[in-house]
Amino acid sequence: MIKVMAMRGFRLGKVAGFEINIDWSWLIIFTLVIYSLAGFYFPRVYPGLSSATNWIMGVIAAILLFVSVLAHELMHSVVAKQYGIDIKGITLFIFGGMSQTGAEPGTPKAEFNMAVIGPVTSFVIAAVFYGVTVVGNGAGWPVPVVAITGYLAVINLILGIFNMVPGFPLDGGRVLRSGLWAWLDNLERATRYASYVGQGFGYLLMGFGFFNLLGGALIGGFWMIFIGWFLAGSARTSYEQVLLRQALSGVEVSRVMTTDVPVIEARTPVDDFVQNYLMRREYACYPVAENEQVKGIVGIGDVRSLPREQWQFTTVGEITHPIEEEMRVSKDDDAWDALLKLATDENSCRLLVMQNGNLEGTITQDNIFRLIRTKMQLGV
Ligand SMILES: [Zn+2]
Repeated sequence: MIKVMAMRGFRLGKVAGFEINIDWSWLIIFTLVIYSLAGFYFPRVYPGLSSATNWIMGVIAAILLFVSVLAHELMHSVVAKQYGIDIKGITLFIFGGMSQTGAEPGTPKAEFNMAVIGPVTSFVIAAVFYGVTVVGNGAGWPVPVVAITGYLAVINLILGIFNMVPGFPLDGGRVLRSGLWAWLDNLERATRYASYVGQGFGYLLMGFGFFNLLGGALIGGFWMIFIGWFLAGSARTSYEQVLLRQALSGVEVSRVMTTDVPVIEARTPVDDFVQNYLMRREYACYPVAENEQVKGIVGIGDVRSLPREQWQFTTVGEITHPIEEEMRVSKDDDAWDALLKLATDENSCRLLVMQNGNLEGTITQDNIFRLIRTKMQLGV
């Protein structure tokens, strides 16, 4: 999820209190769906309609598919919220949707309910569209209407089934994990096994893809390999993330922060900062203070965006990133939350550990990973 959260896209708006983001990759799928519906599916299944009608049907069906996927994701978020899990937003990307959350469900039951509601929603939508199609066919509704509702019944059924594949981190994999978790009473082992199954499915799908390629089905083959590769990769990283999370659970920021990073005076010329700090010391970014008051953070990136000839005439204060909420943690925060903050924002190379407006220390990904490495070497 750390990687997923760094995806780029645009904000669509808020639905039911959840922020909806669209990743650029979703637009590729949207276009492909319209193209394949208007160009192939509708003309083949319902011949005799004009090309313009096919395209309009394609657009409407794609929008309704989008709404269906959104409903699936929204239901995950609604149930998660009932269990007190804070959902930052929903991102739709190439393989559907992803609810952004820093937290994991606390009990197997919560996990089961949060996961299973997605496919259930898809199945319910499929059933509704199927019912509408049957009624429409009986009542003699226009062909384009029943063509669209029929397609939505099928595609939502496929969505529900694909998501129930028991490969973590798909919904089905989460359902599997919740079962293993309840049985083994051990989240780490449950995740490991669910992740193995997920990787297995991924490789299996890639294998099928290769067979399809050999058989001459190029697009279908590549598509399967792509999905399989993605599935195997996310199954692996999801497990690593749980390990990371476990290693950091209960570790307070004060245990991993450094207190020996020098604070730079805001009036220091950039030139001096480069010579005396960036070139001479190991740190890539530093807290900045003005009149004993912490102002923000400055790093290599900020210096690089300033033309070389202006280094002499610019002060560090002028290129400092002012303090924002995302740059701040407190001493008793969880190190895991700090890591999430560091991973979410690519500009924050260092977080400020603040207590009552005073700088207590700073923390970087390196600090956190060093602790994890040490813990692993010690086997604790
Ligand atoms: Zn889902």
